Amino acid sequence: MKFQSRSQIEAMAKFKSQGDLVTSFYLDTDKGRLNRKEIQLALKNLLNDAKARACGLAAAKNKTESLLRDLDLIADHSGRALASSNAAGLAVFSCSQRKFWQALELPHGPRSRVVFDTNFYVRPLAAILDKYSSICALLLSRREARWYDISMGEIKALDELKSDVPGRVREGGFEGTEGKKIERHLDAKLQDHFKKTAQRTFDLSKKHPFEWFFISCEDNHGADFEGHLHSYLREKIKARIHSHVGDSPTKVLQEVLEVEARLKKAEEEETVRKLVAELERGGLAASGLRDTIHRLNQFEVQSLVVTHNFSKPGRICPTHKIFYLDELKCPVCDKKTDVVQDIVDEAIETVLKRNGTVKHITPPSKLDRYGQIGAFLKYKA
Ligand SMILES: [Zn+2]
Repeated sequence: MKFQSRSQIEAMAKFKSQGDLVTSFYLDTDKGRLNRKEIQLALKNLLNDAKARACGLAAAKNKTESLLRDLDLIADHSGRALASSNAAGLAVFSCSQRKFWQALELPHGPRSRVVFDTNFYVRPLAAILDKYSSICALLLSRREARWYDISMGEIKALDELKSDVPGRVREGGFEGTEGKKIERHLDAKLQDHFKKTAQRTFDLSKKHPFEWFFISCEDNHGADFEGHLHSYLREKIKARIHSHVGDSPTKVLQEVLEVEARLKKAEEEETVRKLVAELERGGLAASGLRDTIHRLNQFEVQSLVVTHNFSKPGRICPTHKIFYLDELKCPVCDKKTDVVQDIVDEAIETVLKRNGTVKHITPPSKLDRYGQIGAFLKYKA
């Protein structure tokens, strides 16, 4: 199955293993950077290492067996997927003991790793999702319009329209009254074409909802056309692009992805700027791992802002489910705390489960100066 929506992450985040161990597997299969041999070797090493770790865990026999079964299934699946799929990444979430299995094809290469835990490691998925928006691209000429849907790095033709607009007015225009009449006739036809295109865009947006709208309009008619658009769609315009109606989908996709990456980068910078401004005025924000975790424990975190791949081990009170950086005993109940492999990942999953949002920031950024993590806090009731 292709990875394409937040609901797939939520399904994994909500899976209850009831204390059983589960396996999360990620493999970078980006053939743009790696050849087939390198990928196969990485897979082999990854699984061998994981097997050794599974056997080294001081877990009950049935738990270890469940992990080894996960790894066997993953080996089979990956072998087949490598032969048949061109995805840039693979992910598998498996808990043999509870007969849970989910394999995903990823549009972006993750860091290859196998994680055993009592819940699934979904953070790389959230980070990938953050890189993409659902985009509608409209390519418009005087006679034609073509719509594409672009999401998770893939392009799909949505619709096209051809209007009967005569050729462009001769350079310098026509002479006399007859010429004026022709110009008016041409203009009416053109406006009619734009109007139909605007209406069709509106209809398409109902059937295929999108977040961002990109437009390419030939001959500087952009403002003319946008005048016909529903205000709801005008607000979604995020970029004016340069692809032409006749360009191949591959060419259109390339431009859209470049523009999207640029916009995402600007969005990340804006998020960090807002966080820093809030911190500096002593507002509703936290920064640094210790304070962010403390606020999370207090249910104050609305939105987490975290540097890609920032990771730190930590501890958790098994009774209270309170996270700590280094407390060996829970200060609340005095019980021994458990180790968690990656407390940043735990924080991300907790925020997602509480329906908060998580923003991933590509380093380097100003967030580095604030401990690589921060949060916007909720208004206190
Ligand atoms: Zn406790």
